[in-house]
Amino acid sequence: MVICRTIASLEEYLSTRPSGPRLGFIPTMGALHDGHASLIREARAGGRFAVVSVFVNPTQFNDPTDFQKYPKTIDQDIFLLEKTGTDVLFLPSVDEIYPQGTAPAKHYDLGYLETVLEGQYRPGHFQGVCQVVERLLRIVRPDDLYMGQKDYQQCMVIRRLIELENLPVTLVVCPIRREPDGLAMSSRNLRLDAAHRAGATAIYAALEAIKHGDTPEQAKTALESKGFKVDYVTVANAKTLQPWDGKSQAVALIAAFYNDVRLIDNEVLASPVPGTRRN
Ligand code: AMP
Repeated sequence: MVICRTIASLEEYLSTRPSGPRLGFIPTMGALHDGHASLIREARAGGRFAVVSVFVNPTQFNDPTDFQKYPKTIDQDIFLLEKTGTDVLFLPSVDEIYPQGTAPAKHYDLGYLETVLEGQYRPGHFQGVCQVVERLLRIVRPDDLYMGQKDYQQCMVIRRLIELENLPVTLVVCPIRREPDGLAMSSRNLRLDAAHRAGATAIYAALEAIKHGDTPEQAKTALESKGFKVDYVTVANAKTLQPWDGKSQAVALIAAFYNDVRLIDNEVLASPVPGTRRN
């Protein structure tokens, strides 16, 4: 694996790569786990030349403490990237990505998507996500962009960004990787102590309960009774994130703090539909 810390070195290296394989790009914020590795494996399995970026983007953190506390494990990350067959690691500094400073140059019209759920609870977050992803896409110029369903709304936002900016890239959304007890893998899990790590599986249990007929309100009450501070538990239209109309494909989404660590998860629902459990 080649490590490029500057745009110039990345561009130079990419200009010499074999012309056959499509370029697959996996943007990350590091503290890598098997969820990230699954995206790389997917790209590699499809014969892609795999470029991974590790960049903790300051502009997408609405909470400065969350940014400061974001885990950094670059030595282990490099080990994982080597093991999964990554071709290039792009490891830029903040100055390299934002030479003119981090102030946004433009506003992305994300419409309704930015007014609900993560958009509502993390003001400005998706503007920062679009800012960095557009910048990275214009630097790396991949054919395919690999992202995780773990960040369900983010995938929808990036689809919109690609449309808005007419970017020549195909978005590939990969399934959520979970720990054996169901907890969705996340870099933030590293910030949970042993007791909270064990209890955090309640989020997955809540999603499963909704899948089997609990209402979002019941699931929220269950989480609160276990000490979670819930931002939202909801069931929405899986395509639009509009309130679920009882007919269309639905997705259940949860965001909650557990011991000051904000965790998110989701599950696309088949039948039986939420709110139909008979006690
Ligand atoms: P992050 O480093 O958290 O910004 O994540 C980088 C990419 O990895 C995003 O596209 C995430 O959706 C994806 N990702 C994070 N956790 C998981 C997971 N448990 N399963 C699958 N993909 C994930």
